[in-house]
Amino acid sequence: MKRTIYLDYNATAPIRESVVDAVSTAMRAVGNPSSVHAAGRAARGIVEEARAMVAALVNSRPRDVVFTASGTEATNMVIRGTGAKSLLISAIEHECGAAAARESGLPVTTLPVSSTGALDLEALKSALEKAEKPALVSVMIANNEMGAIQDISGIAAIAKGYGAFVHTDAVQAAGKLTLDFKALGVDYLTLSAHKIGGPQGIGAVVLAPTAPLKALVVGGGQELSRRSGTENVAGIAGFGAAAMDAMVGIGDAERLSVMRDRIEEAVSAHANEAVVVGRDGERLPNTSCIIMPGVKGETQVMHFDLNGICVSSGSACSSGKVKVSQVLTGLGYEPEMAEASIRVSLGYKTEEADVDAFIEAWKSIYNRTRQR
Ligand code: PLP
Repeated sequence: MKRTIYLDYNATAPIRESVVDAVSTAMRAVGNPSSVHAAGRAARGIVEEARAMVAALVNSRPRDVVFTASGTEATNMVIRGTGAKSLLISAIEHECGAAAARESGLPVTTLPVSSTGALDLEALKSALEKAEKPALVSVMIANNEMGAIQDISGIAAIAKGYGAFVHTDAVQAAGKLTLDFKALGVDYLTLSAHKIGGPQGIGAVVLAPTAPLKALVVGGGQELSRRSGTENVAGIAGFGAAAMDAMVGIGDAERLSVMRDRIEEAVSAHANEAVVVGRDGERLPNTSCIIMPGVKGETQVMHFDLNGICVSSGSACSSGKVKVSQVLTGLGYEPEMAEASIRVSLGYKTEEADVDAFIEAWKSIYNRTRQR
């Protein structure tokens, strides 16, 4: 049987062996982490050990890590829970941040980005001047669709000058870039385990010791009353194990960027009209967003799938819903171009042979569509 070539790490990274071990060990243990007996204390031990590992991934204090059921929930919690009077978000935020902002009932300013995805800092300053205070600025560190990296510490320094809170969605940056919560200068940072080889359905908010955070979910007062509900002990254990491996995995960046560049060079050499989105900007080492003009992203994804290759069009989190990528239109692409994009994202198991197969498939799909 032909091996599936998985090039969709930004959607979900393959689970790591250490994670499977940690999750199954935790699942075999009995006990509610809130119980005071020995079994409860053992479960608490698993949760707290993992919390320390997730904190280490971003260089924060363990007590400042709040576990949630997803990156989406973590970002919703921040957008809704700071007490800010207005929101400023980038034009290329993940839908979980954009939708939470829209639904918040607060005034929202959408900040423009350059063609390579960098936030317009002048627009940020003028929006901060006009915004009702305190404002919350929410800008992702790294974009999920085309990998643009923001200067978050610079953005935070500007925002702090206006007394604003700052949140960064670090879901795609974790495990790909070295993260230091304190050096970033933000008040809130959000994470998701399944993007770093952990289990799906577990995320976290990391917050500054003095940052306000209203609970979205109330009840038993778990997570220092910041997120009620019996902790997902197995998921948390897996998140901790993934965080440890992901820290080591950051050393893989150079290898990934070489493979990513090889894809982009081959595609551009084969078809002049192919566009690599944000190529000249600062980007994640593993992510490439490629436009094949005139061929819908979903059609390309189907062709790749027939060739045993998994990639995605637009944001995989919203696939099934066919809609134009807000990210690409936010970068200034016309809808016809935005619709013709796919995302290729590499990771720790990606090999040179996978890259070769992708390049061959891309060329053959392109040639076939040009023969019609
Ligand atoms: N933020 C970014 C940048 C993402 O890429 C994703 C998932 O694609 C999320 C948030 C949502 O994370 P989760 O899938 O854990 O809800």
